[in-house]
This record gives sequence, C-alpha cells and structure tokens, in this order.
Amino acid sequence: MNRLRQVAAALLLPLLLPLLTAGCATPGMGTTEGGIPVVTTHTAKGQDSRVLFLVIHYTVADRAQSLHILTEREVSAHYLLTDETPPRIHRLVDENRRAWHSGVSGWKGHRLLNASSIGIEIVHPGFRKRPDGEREYLPFPEAQIDALIPLVRDIVARHQIRPERVLGHGEVTPAYKEDPGPTFPWHRLAAAGVVPPLPGLAQAARVAAQRATYEAALPDAAWFQQQLQQWGYVIERTGQWDEQSRRVMMNFQMRYRPALYRGDMDAESAALLWVLNNPPPAPKAAP
Ligand SMILES: [Zn+2]
Repeated sequence: MNRLRQVAAALLLPLLLPLLTAGCATPGMGTTEGGIPVVTTHTAKGQDSRVLFLVIHYTVADRAQSLHILTEREVSAHYLLTDETPPRIHRLVDENRRAWHSGVSGWKGHRLLNASSIGIEIVHPGFRKRPDGEREYLPFPEAQIDALIPLVRDIVARHQIRPERVLGHGEVTPAYKEDPGPTFPWHRLAAAGVVPPLPGLAQAARVAAQRATYEAALPDAAWFQQQLQQWGYVIERTGQWDEQSRRVMMNFQMRYRPALYRGDMDAESAALLWVLNNPPPAPKAAP
C-alpha cells in the first residue's frame, strides 16, 4: 500500500507541481525529492555539514588523461582544476555525494575520509626522475594557485571546514601517497587564510627556541610518533623509526619544511611539531 502511494505520488507530482508553484502551495508543506509529502515548519538547530575535510591532490596525468581517468574509472574527485590558461574548474561529482579520491585514509580518529571530505584534483605532473634517479618535484603555476584559493575558500566557508582540516592527500594516506608534494605552496594558502599559518613563518622565534632545545637532545622515535599522532597523522606508535614513520614524517616535512623531506627525525622537525601541538595562549579578552 505504501509503495502504491509512493508510486501514485511520484506519478502525480509532475502534474501537480505547476499548480503548486502557481500559488496553491500549502505553507509549511513540501515533499522529498521522491515526492513524499513532508511538513517543513520545524528546522533543527543541531545540524552541520557532513563535509569535515578538504583533500588536495595532483593528478600526475595530463589534462585529457586526468579527465578520462577521473570520469571513467573507479577513482574520482569533486573538482578537477586544469592547467589551461586561464585554468578551469570541472565539477565531476556533486558535493552532496561521495567522490572516490582518498582511499584508505585517516586523520585524528576519522577514517576513510571519502565519506566526509571534498576532493580537489589539480592537473599537474608531480615530479620527473632526474638522471641520478632522484625525484625532481615540479612547481605549480601561479595561475593555478590563484584559481585554487577562491575555490578552497568557497568550499571551506560553505561547509565550515576547520582550516587545519584542509589537507594534502599524502597527509591522510601517507603509506602510499605524497601528493600534492613539496612544491605545493601551502604558504600561499596560509597567506590567504584558508589554512593555518605555517609555524616556520608565523612563529619563527618559538620554532628557533625549541629547535635549540632539541638540538641539544633529539627526542626519540616514540616522542615523534606521539607528536605526529597528536597533530592528526595516522601512525603506529611502535617506538622504532620504521618505514611507516618515515612516510608520515616525509609528508609532514613536505608541508611544513619542504626544503628537506627525507622522513628523518631532526631537531627542526621536532620544533615545528611541538609548536603546532602547543599553540601560543590566546590573548585574554578585554574585561
Ligand atoms: Zn591524490
């Protein structure tokens, strides 16, 4: 019977809609998208967006390949920012739906972030292999970042995403990803106010003071693992500086100390981590 009603409602709705929109709509009544009548007089205060994170990627592939892969295969993103002049923004997945961009990801107790994130892919080659076998990460064109920042600002504002939850793919999937890599200009996003200020720039004096402390005595692997986990990275606290720890640290360094990102423990990385985890006390409000 219910099913019959649903079918009847679905069939009748297109016929009734012109009448409803012509001024016969009952105040306080609406329908679901499927045509089920609902009362709309009460709206709950307790609600927020399902979107908690914004994850930034590069595609490695060129523009045509990126579009093909992200629309035809089992991977996708909400937005694809091209490398044209000027860059264009493709919307490939509606923001209300889940795009498949983050894989086995996590951040600060949250897991499988596809369900709770918006993904932006940037058409960018990533890196090229130098003759000596080392990776050379390539810069991002200014115009692409100029186009990216307003998009990030728009998404963050509409979903009220916290600035520290705008993350690189490698940060949430450190085991096998490193995009958007060490050349991604996080400082420009910080200057635009869409991610937190970088401690190496905004709190240079505090970082220098902590660095001196850690140069005198470098903390051990357990300390680094605890600090990285506290900031949000998914890391196993094994007490050994193992491969998973190096991958997490490499992604941390790519963002916060991009001049050197081998994933080693060092005093500067320790200081940056400590400053992130211990923000300066907020100035007291005037009485
Ligand atoms: Zn990615």
